[in-house]
Amino acid sequence: MQTNHFRSGSKPHGSSSGASRFGGPRHASSHRPSTGRSFGGGGYKGGGHRSSRPAPSRGRRNNSMGSYIDPSRFINKVTVTEEVAVFVPEHQFTDFQIDERLKKAIVTKGYKNPSPIQDKTIPHILKGADLVGIANTGTGKTAAFLIPLIQKVLKDPKENILVIVPTRELAIQIDAELKTFVRGMSIFSVCCVGGMSIGRQISALKYRNNFVIGTPGRLKDLIDRKMINPVNFKSLVLDEADRMLDMGFVNEMRSIMSMMPKDRHTLFFSATLSTEIERLIGEFLKAPVRISVKTSETSKNVEQDVVKVIPGKNKLDMLHDLLNQKDFSRVLIFGRTKHGVEKLSQTLLAKGFKAESIHGNKNHSKRQSALRLFKEGNVQILVATDVAARGLDIADVSHVINYELPATYEDYVHRIGRTGRGSKKGKALTFLD
Ligand code: AMP
Repeated sequence: MQTNHFRSGSKPHGSSSGASRFGGPRHASSHRPSTGRSFGGGGYKGGGHRSSRPAPSRGRRNNSMGSYIDPSRFINKVTVTEEVAVFVPEHQFTDFQIDERLKKAIVTKGYKNPSPIQDKTIPHILKGADLVGIANTGTGKTAAFLIPLIQKVLKDPKENILVIVPTRELAIQIDAELKTFVRGMSIFSVCCVGGMSIGRQISALKYRNNFVIGTPGRLKDLIDRKMINPVNFKSLVLDEADRMLDMGFVNEMRSIMSMMPKDRHTLFFSATLSTEIERLIGEFLKAPVRISVKTSETSKNVEQDVVKVIPGKNKLDMLHDLLNQKDFSRVLIFGRTKHGVEKLSQTLLAKGFKAESIHGNKNHSKRQSALRLFKEGNVQILVATDVAARGLDIADVSHVINYELPATYEDYVHRIGRTGRGSKKGKALTFLD
């Protein structure tokens, strides 16, 4: 058995199979999806019983706002075992030209080997190259940019780094990861995100902060109030750039970048590449190195299946039956609207489940508290909207349930990426009405 190596595909740039998610040692065999994609034997019934495959309803749209997604794309059963190559990183963390304190912090965090994105990008970032990283969440991309940027600050404590991300949750997550790396190093950071007191952020910005991590709208606001001066930032990270574009932040992104020094160091991460994304790359990066570790849309660690709502049976009762099963220990349920999500979480509470919700109608502290309760295992169920759950890194989510269909296949990929993280296995179930 190979230990402590990431799996790798045969492709250059550390391309890896979906099974090559990191998280330490992996066994020499893995699973691949069966031909279930072609509807073979698919479908959960309420209570977890298998049903016949969903009838393809050609041309049907998810709803008035969404695009049609063929139900077969919600099925990917992990049934067949096959041998896959093992990713052997080119580098060990000890090979990187980084401060001993940083190396120690990596050991303390329990990272044994660089993940593919870390293996491929860290040497370039350490050399100061602009970089485009095409990677999904869960690949270790946060540490891929944090490690070399912390090194920059350790070399020159006057370095200021701006990290722009689409959601406050992601900003808080990156800040938390940063703080675990820089303990005792006198490196400071501030999170500048909407939905939280701007007064506190203004106060925090009066002190020295090497890292400012924020969402585009709030950052722009603080720049307009002259609390942040983009000229002082020589390094910039745009994380989940495609999400920021989707969420309509392009003007803020352009505006902030145009105020920054031209000779800055820019790192650009995105799960997807589109014409618009390429345009931004062309505008804002200088001869970037491109690294892609994205090989499959959905992780092969996630077993995907559908739950066909049986005519005459109540969808809520079917959900209830599933949630009562023993292995549904930490379940993330997705709904489409803030109102629907809140209603479902209240209904589940009334049924005796421990449930919480996160959506845009909840203020920041309520969302954080719901998230904490879920992360710490005090509640079994978190009901969420797509936007609220984007980019969340929650350990050991056993199941993602799409109680309502996602608007797009991309949203689906994001949803189910909340389970099966690292080398863990997860299950995703999608209700088909
Ligand atoms: P990210 O893609 O940055 O959201 O990272 C996903 C998860 O992987 C986080 O919980 C990280 O703490 C963890 N992680 C990042 N790098 C490594 C590594 N080299 N080894 C093990 N776990 C890691």
